[in-house]
Amino acid sequence: MDAKTDGGVEETAPGAEDAAGAGVTYPYSTAPAPGETIELAPGVHWHRTPLPFKLNHINLWLIEDGDGWIVVDCGFGLDDTKEAWRRIFAEPMEGRPITRIIVTHYHPDHMGLAAWLAAISGAEVMMTEIEWQTAQDAFDGVTNDVTPWTAFYRSHGLDPSYDETIRLRGNTYRRGVPELPAATVPMKDADEIALGGHDWRVIVGRGHAPEHAALYCQDLNVLISGDQILPRITPNISLRYFDADADPLGLYLASFAPFRPLPADVFVLPSHNLPFYGLGPRIDQILRHHDDRLKTVLDNCDTPVTAADLIPHLFKRKLDAHGVSFAMGECLAHIRHLELKGRLRRLTNDDGIHRFVRIDRGPARS
Ligand SMILES: [Zn+2]
Repeated sequence: MDAKTDGGVEETAPGAEDAAGAGVTYPYSTAPAPGETIELAPGVHWHRTPLPFKLNHINLWLIEDGDGWIVVDCGFGLDDTKEAWRRIFAEPMEGRPITRIIVTHYHPDHMGLAAWLAAISGAEVMMTEIEWQTAQDAFDGVTNDVTPWTAFYRSHGLDPSYDETIRLRGNTYRRGVPELPAATVPMKDADEIALGGHDWRVIVGRGHAPEHAALYCQDLNVLISGDQILPRITPNISLRYFDADADPLGLYLASFAPFRPLPADVFVLPSHNLPFYGLGPRIDQILRHHDDRLKTVLDNCDTPVTAADLIPHLFKRKLDAHGVSFAMGECLAHIRHLELKGRLRRLTNDDGIHRFVRIDRGPARS
C-alpha cells in the first residue's frame, strides 16, 4: 500500500453530528472522571483520556486478566494522556501489570501511546496486520509533502487558496503517535481471543480504517465497537488520493453485516460518546444518514458540479483547513459510491477538474 500520510489522516474520527434517535439508550449519563473507571460488565472497565480536538475525549477499555489488565486502545500521544494513564495505573489498576495491549485501528487516538504502554509494561501489542502496516506507512511518511493531496483536492474543485493551509498543517500522524511499538502480534477477522477468562471475537470492519477490529464477547454480551459504530456521530469515511478508485463508503456500509446477528440487547462500548444499547437501531440510523447524504449529493448534481461545490450542501458548519480536508474526503466517498452505482457520471474537462452529473432521477440507494 502507498503511504497513508497526508494532510488528511483523520485523527479523531468525527463525522457529521447525528442525533442518537429512537431505540438507542444510554445507561450511564456521565463518563468516568479523569483517572477514574466505571465497571460496565464483570471485569470490563471504562476510562477516558483527553483529545486536543473538538471531539475532546476517547473511551478506553480495561479488561481484568488474572492479576493484570488488558488494555484496549491507548489514547492520543499527549502528556495529558500519560498523566491520565498514570492515575489509572495507581488507583483503579492498583499497580497490577498490563498483560496485553489491543489496538482497534491505526488512528492516533487509538494507537498513540501503544509504544509507551508496551515499553513500560513489556506487554505485546495486538492489531490486525493491515492496521499495523498502515500505522507504519503513516509514521514513516511524516516527511512526505502534501502535494499529492492538494493536487487531488484541486482536481475535485477545491480552491487553490487552501493549498497553503493544508501544506502548513502537513502530516499530523506523529503528533499523535510519537513512536511505534517495535512489533505487533497479528489478529484477524473471526479470531476468538481469550481475554480475561472469556472469548472475544474479532469483527473486522472497513471504510473508516482498512481493517478496524471490533471485539464481541458472547459470555458478557458486550461489543467493543471502536470507531466502526458510534452513537451520535458517524466515523469519517474518506476517499484518499492513493486509493481514488476505491469505494470506502461501500466498504463501510457492507461492514455492518457481521454486527446484525448480534443480540438485540448487546451492550455497545464505542470509542466516543457514551456506551449504549440499541445496536440494530443505531445501524439503521447510520444507514439512513448515509442514504440522506447520497440523496443530497444527487439532488445537487442536476448540472455538473465538483466535490468542492457539494461541501456546503453536506456540511452546514463552518470548516477550518482540517475540516475542509475531511469534508472533501467525505464528499468524495459519497460521490465515488454513486459513480460506482451508476448514478453519477464523471466529466473531466481540459482544465483537469472532475465534475459529476446525475444519470437518472431514481431514488438514492446505498
Ligand atoms: Zn478512527
